[in-house]
Amino acid sequence: MREGQSLERTSSPTVPIILNVNDLKQFLYCPRIVYYHWVMPVRPPATFFMQRGTRQESRFEQLEPRRVLSRYGFQEATRHFSLEISDESLGLIGKIDLILESPARVAVVEFKATAGRLAENWKLQLCAYGLLAERHFQRPCPLGFAMLNDSEELIEVELDEALKSQVCSALKQARELVMAQQFPDPTPVRARCVQCEYRNFCGDVF
Ligand code: SF4
Repeated sequence: MREGQSLERTSSPTVPIILNVNDLKQFLYCPRIVYYHWVMPVRPPATFFMQRGTRQESRFEQLEPRRVLSRYGFQEATRHFSLEISDESLGLIGKIDLILESPARVAVVEFKATAGRLAENWKLQLCAYGLLAERHFQRPCPLGFAMLNDSEELIEVELDEALKSQVCSALKQARELVMAQQFPDPTPVRARCVQCEYRNFCGDVF
């Protein structure tokens, strides 16, 4: 089952669920979003912040080729923009903003339309992209970078075994949620609900 498909439209329960990296990020933010996306499924309109993020991503692709690779510590790398990678063993698919490919290793770069600190779910999202890049290029991906658009700050994240293990564990939990089709509890961090595009479906949180 691929992105854009729902559980309802799956003809066989034995078809593996291929989660999108975005599902993982959303699951860590609030499990209900994954439920709404996969089990109901509902598609709320894009919020102002989502539309702004899409516009700024295009700008990132325009500006990035002019930036020097030394800022990543990858002087001789080849850049791959917006590469979609799917891996059945991970049960995961994702489109990565930028991959830096060098002979011995790769790194992933994600654009973030914010100036705030890097949230934990974003670190795991970066790490999930790193796992996909490792399998696709058959070489280690020890580093991920988040480019914060509003501040032009570049944050380096070490993609170590502990983080990779957290990603695999969260993917397993998200997949179990989809299979169980049980409406999960809301996020305990209710401040997240204020700007959530699914807030109209959560009558119990306000
Ligand atoms: S409104 Fe709150 S509880 Fe509902 S999906 Fe959004 S973040 Fe989760």
